[in-house]
Amino acid sequence: MKPAVFSLEQPVSVAQLMQSGEGRIVAGGQSLGPMLNFRVAQPSHVISIAQIREFSLVEETEDAVIIGACVTHAAIADGRVPDIGKGILPAIAQGIAYRAVRNRGTIGGSLCHADPAADWLCTMTALGAAVLTLRPDGGRTIPLTTFVLGPFRNALQPGEIVQAVRVPKASPEARWGYYKACRKPGEFAHAMAAVFLDPARDIHRAVIGAVGGAPIVLEGSDVRIESAERALLQSGLDEIGRIMQLAALRRAMEQAA
Ligand SMILES: Cc1cc2nc3c(=O)[nH]c(=O)nc-3n(C[C@H](O)[C@H](O)[C@H](O)COP(=O)(O)OP(=O)(O)OC[C@H]3O[C@@H](n4cnc5c(N)ncnc54)[C@H](O)[C@@H]3O)c2cc1C
Repeated sequence: MKPAVFSLEQPVSVAQLMQSGEGRIVAGGQSLGPMLNFRVAQPSHVISIAQIREFSLVEETEDAVIIGACVTHAAIADGRVPDIGKGILPAIAQGIAYRAVRNRGTIGGSLCHADPAADWLCTMTALGAAVLTLRPDGGRTIPLTTFVLGPFRNALQPGEIVQAVRVPKASPEARWGYYKACRKPGEFAHAMAAVFLDPARDIHRAVIGAVGGAPIVLEGSDVRIESAERALLQSGLDEIGRIMQLAALRRAMEQAA
């Protein structure tokens, strides 16, 4: 199918973006493109943020890396973005889809799309990341734990745009694990888990993704299989789904041990 007719605006700066009218944001187009083609989304006006230089910037501070919303998965996979430590970011980016998708898909687009099985959603939640937004009256910081409201639903208000993702740096002693089960490489996962242990910062967190809604977050003494079993029982997943999720969590916990 072909998309319904829409007009396209391509601002090249945040100042120009702020003067844009109302419209559907497109970044890498890897998720929105198919939605337009299948007419699941039929916006009359689309605003591409891919040319806005500020959205592709990366800043490293003492305790965090701030990644522009339009930084691609490929840029992170190729190490063109400073890692937060332990090689976490490039390792995750390399496992997203195929190179062609990674070349265009962006970290901001992935988080905003809020696909329950998205790699960044699960990982960034485990790392304690937050999105930094832009709106006409300023902007705000939204932790990933409250950013996703449900499958394909985020906490952005109309006209609000994600401009960057703030990812705290890991301590040298931090440990992490990540496991996803896919039918074949490059496909979205059917089960996935991320474990991040950073005792120096008192962080013990496990996140189970691909559960059909916002990820399940286990913290502190709840980072164990029994707590995951209880949470998964309430997730609505069938028994096979729960078994797969527990297996993914076990693998991620083993890696982080
Ligand atoms: C074949 C294929 C396989 C894939 N496999 C995987 C996979 O294994 N793992 C995985 O995690 N992902 C996978 N993806 C998804 C991919 O990672 C996309 O890059 C991602 O979902 C969307 O990023 P994007 O930049 O293309 O966003 P777009 O498609 O441009 O936008 C997605 C949505 O987010 C909104 N949006 C985008 N940017 C912003 C912003 N800055 N502020 C506010 N709203 C915004 C758009 O309006 C739209 O609703 C796959 C995609 C394809 C096509």
